[in-house]
Amino acid sequence: MRWKKQLLTLTPYQPGKSTESVKKLYNLDKIVKLASNENPYGCSDKAHAALQTASLSMAIYPDGYATNLREGVASFLGVEPEELIFGNGSDNIIQMISRALLHSEANTVMAIPTFSQYKHNAIIEGAEIIEVPLVNGEHDLDQMLAAIDENTNVVWLCSPNNPTGTYIPESKLVSFLEKVPQETLIVLDEAYYEYVVAEDYYQSINLTRNYSNLIVLRTFSKIYGLASLRVGYGVANPAIIKALEPAREPFNVNSFGQAVALAAIEDQGFIEECKRKNRENLARIYDFCDQNNLEYFPTQTNFILVDFKVDGDKVFQFLLEKGYIVRSGKALGFPTSVRITVGTEEENEGLLKVINEFLVKKETEGLTGK
Ligand SMILES: *Cc1c(COP(=O)(O)O)cnc(C)c1O
Repeated sequence: MRWKKQLLTLTPYQPGKSTESVKKLYNLDKIVKLASNENPYGCSDKAHAALQTASLSMAIYPDGYATNLREGVASFLGVEPEELIFGNGSDNIIQMISRALLHSEANTVMAIPTFSQYKHNAIIEGAEIIEVPLVNGEHDLDQMLAAIDENTNVVWLCSPNNPTGTYIPESKLVSFLEKVPQETLIVLDEAYYEYVVAEDYYQSINLTRNYSNLIVLRTFSKIYGLASLRVGYGVANPAIIKALEPAREPFNVNSFGQAVALAAIEDQGFIEECKRKNRENLARIYDFCDQNNLEYFPTQTNFILVDFKVDGDKVFQFLLEKGYIVRSGKALGFPTSVRITVGTEEENEGLLKVINEFLVKKETEGLTGK
């Protein structure tokens, strides 16, 4: 068969290991998964109740326009319904954008390391990929701007960035937006928006009003705790949404996802509480790292990238065998780090105990990153 040749260079997305497979393999009775930045507190009770009570027929196609969810999100954000597009997760919107704008004569600019799906989709579309290294874990917007040319159809910004947890301050973002050509779409992926506490974080929804080439992506998968239902959305001016819509599958967001996400966005008390607990639990991890001279990037998210100065796969494997699944930094562009999702207080205490054991082993065996 004549597959697109770039497809043959790709491997499928490697997700964080599943708890069931690890349990069996190491004969463990409890597994704590801190690998995919899911909400350790699950989702709002109201969202959960919506799943039980929604009288949805599995035989009937979902509402392709996601009317009720659209109205709920629009009123929550203070935008018009026509300023929204929904995806089967925000991954699906990344795919739509790539499909709509990228091709073999176009290029696309992104940071490295950043979220893997921008590059993955750009490769499938055959676009040239221009990667601009992070500086101190942060986007180098000056270099990204310098990399943009007349063939740059999409620029990807991830703020806070996965896997570093760093964000772009408002003043830097605005001066970047001022200079990017009108014909280049700027994608601002805010999967962790709700966790941000930095005071100089921008109000991206307002920015979509001033910059007609900006789309903001958000998701119900992270703080909302609905990763398995696959609901994400994009916010942009109606002209962008209208142009993207034909690239969307007709029934991409399932009925259960629509109903539950609507209930979830209406319970902001739960979101506030998770945000607060995340910062408390994170403070404990910061303390531990500081006491043990472990370097990390200050994070605005529910994950933290910690540098052990040892092959990240070794740290990963050690923790795995003790029942804690994290992400090795090796596949994420930080070979001596691991990315840890902030868990509940109890989960973190358990994890830090095991990390402590690893540090003792590292010391006695003289492990290094080489
Ligand atoms: C998790 C994540 C996503 C994908 O989220 P879904 O809505 O579940 O597809 C997108 N971007 C970043 C940066 C993420 O970390």
